This record gives sequence, C-alpha cells and structure tokens, in this order.
Amino acid sequence: MVIAIDGQSGTGKSTLAGILAKRLNFKSLNTGMIYRAIAHYFLSTGINPEDLAKIEECLKTINIEIKFKGDKQYIIINNIDCTPFVSSEDVQKNVSLFSQILPIRDKILSLQREFALYNDIVVEGRDIGTHVFPNADVKFFVSCNIDVRAERRLKDLKQLGQDISLQQVKESLKSRDLLDTTRKFCPLRRADDAIDIDTSYKTIDECINEMLLYILKG
Ligand code: C5P
Repeated sequence: MVIAIDGQSGTGKSTLAGILAKRLNFKSLNTGMIYRAIAHYFLSTGINPEDLAKIEECLKTINIEIKFKGDKQYIIINNIDCTPFVSSEDVQKNVSLFSQILPIRDKILSLQREFALYNDIVVEGRDIGTHVFPNADVKFFVSCNIDVRAERRLKDLKQLGQDISLQQVKESLKSRDLLDTTRKFCPLRRADDAIDIDTSYKTIDECINEMLLYILKG
C-alpha cells in the first residue's frame, strides 16, 4: 500500500508521515532526504549543480542505498553515510538546484518505486502523488502558512545548532518553494485527487486523526 504526501518545505509532511507510518505499521519514506543526500554527495566531491556532464557520468555508477534502523532512515551513497549532512546550510542552499536535474530525478524515481515493491509505505515529497506514485492508494496535499512554516523550521535548525535568523529562514523557504513549483520537470503540484490538509492552526493529533479517517475509509 502507498500513502502519498506532497507539500512545500516545512509544512509538517515528515512529522505527519512518521506518525502515520508508526500507527499503520508502515515504513515512512522521506524522499527529500534522498535529494538532500545526493546534493551533499555531489557537493562533497566538488560537483556543482551546473556540472551536468559530470553529474551524468557519476550517475552511471552511483550506488544509493535507503536503509532503516528502526524507523530512522539513512541514505548511503557509494558506501558513505550522507545522513548526518542532509540539513547543512550548503545542502539547504543547493538541494533544489540539484533536484531540478532530470537524470537525478530519474535515478531517484526508480529507487522510490523499487522500495515500494517490498514495503507498505507512507511516502512524502513534492511529486509523489503526481509523478512517482500516480496510483497511490491515498494522496494528501499538505499546506501551511509561510510564517508558521518559518517559525517551525527555525526551531529545528536552532536545535541543530545553526545560527540563522527568522527572516533568513523565510527567504530560504520562499526561494526553495519558487524553484520547486516552477521547475521544468515534476514541479510540486497538488494531484487532482489529493485530500487537502492545512496544518497551520491544527495540532499534530488533529491532522493525524483527519488523515487516518480518510485512510481507513479507503
Ligand atoms: O522535503 P525536503 O525539504 O527535505 O526536500 C528538500 C528538497 O528536495 C526540496 O526542496 C525539493 O527541491 C527536493 N525534493 C523534490 N522532490 C521530492 C522531494 C524533495 O524535488 N519528492
């Protein structure tokens, strides 16, 4: 079974996906983390988003593994655990530039579909209900007001020890949203058959209960 969750950065998708997966005894697949890990991998090997030829060459032999220890997801690329770096400022700045690149998207597309062959999943990202799993059993589109999103992201980044202002977080969210919604390949878009969940002024429990009602209704 596949439950698809799409939405902009910081809307609460990962939190909701994690809790839903636990309640349903599914795996929670965070696809943003795969894009972030690949962005980190390329940056750490000196490859920038403009280096298309090098990226394509590297993708021919790259080995990307999605691993779980309990419910914690890890992304291992060519035997390097990229998980500790997925929230770095460098990744934050560049991930949407890498994720615009079609060969990268194609690589990650097949990984996601293969993962779903062997697991029941709650999977969250930007193109899940529209492109990766257009026949998902249930689709949600999660939204949230920008000020609330920025506050939430700031709290997460502060916990990771990053020194950043609310305004900087807001600008970074806005520029990522713009790139993600206007890019040529698989832009973030609400699937026609998605159920809307606005998390701005609801508790996590309220959102989860609403989502579970839709899922259990079939
Ligand atoms: O969800 P998260 O903020 O971690 O995603 C990081 C970035 O990865 C997004 O801003 C987007 O550019 C890219 N992404 C994507 N498609 C997905 C998931 C993430 O393009 N399915």
